[in-house]
Amino acid sequence: MVKALSVARAGGPLEAVRIPRREPGPADIVVDVAYAGVCHSDVHLARNDWGYSTYPMVLGHEVTGVVSAVGAEVTAHAVGDRVAAGMLLASCGTCPSCRAGREQYCTGGGGAPADAGGFSERIVIGQDFALSLPAGLDLAAAAPLMCAGVTMFSALREWGAGPGVRVAIAGLGGLGHLGVRLAAAMGARVSVLSRSPAREQDARRFGATGFHLLADAPANEFDLIISTVSAVTDLAPMLALLDVDGTLVMAGAPVTPLSVPVGPLITGRRRLAGTSIGSLREAREMLDFCAAHTITAEVEIIEADQMGTAFARLDAADTRYRLVLDTATL
Ligand code: NAP
Ligand code: ZN
Repeated sequence: MVKALSVARAGGPLEAVRIPRREPGPADIVVDVAYAGVCHSDVHLARNDWGYSTYPMVLGHEVTGVVSAVGAEVTAHAVGDRVAAGMLLASCGTCPSCRAGREQYCTGGGGAPADAGGFSERIVIGQDFALSLPAGLDLAAAAPLMCAGVTMFSALREWGAGPGVRVAIAGLGGLGHLGVRLAAAMGARVSVLSRSPAREQDARRFGATGFHLLADAPANEFDLIISTVSAVTDLAPMLALLDVDGTLVMAGAPVTPLSVPVGPLITGRRRLAGTSIGSLREAREMLDFCAAHTITAEVEIIEADQMGTAFARLDAADTRYRLVLDTATL
């Protein structure tokens, strides 16, 4: 049995429980969790915002820790290794997406159980779904790279962020601040679109050269906007900020459907897209990229008894810039 924080029903609180972990198979590793980031997706999932949550649920999908046991067939990791894991803890391995190395778009229904998450002392995962944590990346500050980081890395790479590309990141929270750091390190010209003037200084410290309140941002200015906004957004003003052929990518996942004005899509041949986390290969590349560019998250480490207010703090955008649970306090 391991200590964990569990949600028993939609909208219910995080409760301290003891749960069994599945028996490790020959290709599994056991990871003693050190830190687990609190992502806004945990808030959505705990409330069943997206309609597919099952309970009881042990959340936490930005995990770092140390391997404490390995199955007989494990070759990728050894006891004592520092590893990291994200949202992607299983995939079917046979559908076209999995075979193409895009496991995050698995259509074979290969997901992990709802209670497999990292707000817990220990997790059991297949060796392929745990990544070696490069030396130099701090266990606590690297945990958010495994969801916030890889989500932004995947989108920035997919849509060609690099020198000469004008990128705007909407929403300066967990995803947003890592998006700024990553895009700046890729050489892109990065701006932040925020509701909060108070965040301008931080945005510039993370590498942004532009900062705008959404209401008065310049039109036709960006090649790529990645929205990390977690709540209902009016897409019309954001689409108008794109230059001809620009793309608005939705990473943030508001609950209510949004209405899309077709005019700006037509007149500027603009595109609207979505993106989901990143593949295992992208996660590996992202960790190496972050190690090379000394990028980690700006974190506030919290104890288990502070988790009760964590979701409300995310709702209020009262985090700078990622809360990370120290699992030793469970
Ligand atoms: P977060 O730390 O809470 O940041 C969200 C940011 O959105 C806030 O800092 C705030 O930025 C802005 N915001 C919040 N409420 C808003 C409102 N009512 N109106 C306008 N802006 C608002 O959340 P996160 O962990 O970065 O996650 C962001 C979103 O991405 C969530 O919906 C999450 O589920 C989703 N997500 C998606 C993926 C994926 O694979 N697509 C992966 C991870 C997370 P400002 O104060 O700067 O305006
Ligand atoms: Zn997440």
